[in-house]
Amino acid sequence: MIPFLGLKDINAKYREELLEAAAAVIDTGWYIRGQSVARFEEAFASYCGVKHCTGVGNGLDALTLIFKAYMALGKLAVGDEVIVPANTYIASILAITECGLKAVLAEPVEQSFNLAAEQAKPLITDRTRAILMVHLYGQLADVSGLRALADFHGLLLVEDCAQAHGASLRGRRAGSFGDAAGFSFYPGKNLGALGDAGAVTTDDLQLAERVRALGNYGSAKKYENELKGVNSRLDEIQAAFLAVKLKYLDRETEARRNVARQYLNGIRNPLVSLPAVPSFEQHVFHLFVVRSPERARLQVHLEQQGVETMVHYPVPPYHQKAYLGTFPECPLSTVLHQQVLSLPMSPVMCGADIDRVISAVNAFR
Ligand SMILES: *Cc1c(COP(=O)(O)O)cnc(C)c1O
Repeated sequence: MIPFLGLKDINAKYREELLEAAAAVIDTGWYIRGQSVARFEEAFASYCGVKHCTGVGNGLDALTLIFKAYMALGKLAVGDEVIVPANTYIASILAITECGLKAVLAEPVEQSFNLAAEQAKPLITDRTRAILMVHLYGQLADVSGLRALADFHGLLLVEDCAQAHGASLRGRRAGSFGDAAGFSFYPGKNLGALGDAGAVTTDDLQLAERVRALGNYGSAKKYENELKGVNSRLDEIQAAFLAVKLKYLDRETEARRNVARQYLNGIRNPLVSLPAVPSFEQHVFHLFVVRSPERARLQVHLEQQGVETMVHYPVPPYHQKAYLGTFPECPLSTVLHQQVLSLPMSPVMCGADIDRVISAVNAFR
């Protein structure tokens, strides 16, 4: 079976370096918020081209703490509206509703699966205060259009970069387009830790400081609690692993793009539509997502041909029990959820496996 991701093989390449990094942390006797975290934060801020990076416990907390920090700064208040794409992973929406903000779901652009200014604009009301743009599947959303729209209406622009580490446009990287950005380093993401981890990037020092305090019981100074915070910190050992893997991120992204290029060149089947990829620099192929009106049959066919696939995501957030009755129906997103299928994608896929996936997809009738 050609695995969907092959996480074990991805990390096996760095086994020696990861073991050394772990040993170094074990030997310091300091396991939370020490030098490894500080070093990784600096390296990742520099990688993203921003002034500040704050490590947190995971990607959901990164987004939640951004909104909480803006509330603490008086830039957001309970009941304010945040526009977010309807077809995102539910975590983007959980971060909004967790803070007592109102998520307003926008349909994506059909070709890119992503939010664009044109889709967000009609949803702006006098309660709208922010847009959460998600770079879904690894492809940048309409960053210039959404930036202009946010500026025109005086809205905050927040990025969900959980799937888009390193995606770039004219030399700028994901995490530097918004007023603040949340990253996940969940093991399966393009930059993955060996456990849960996340970070917030921003040029705004005040915001970075609030996020840091909020993730540490609301305390910037030991035993002084200005805010009602939570415990959401990046572990030293995960930061040490991430520092190792960050060095290889661009190389891995190129390997992913190489897989994507071959899929795009090789897959020809009237029952399967390929993703629109206007530029490879803007896409880091966290996922390679095709569409088919016969998705269920295609998935079974591929399984029989030894190709593991996944669906991102089988149930849209607005159909989840957790949000029953909360959101209006989003017809385009519903169709996308019925048709999308993610093909195997990883930086360690070999040429023979890529060819096998292409043949299997092309043989589908
Ligand atoms: C993975 C993911 C998250 C959540 O990250 P965790 O680290 O798993 O909490 C948020 N948004 C998107 C788009 C994701 O893919």
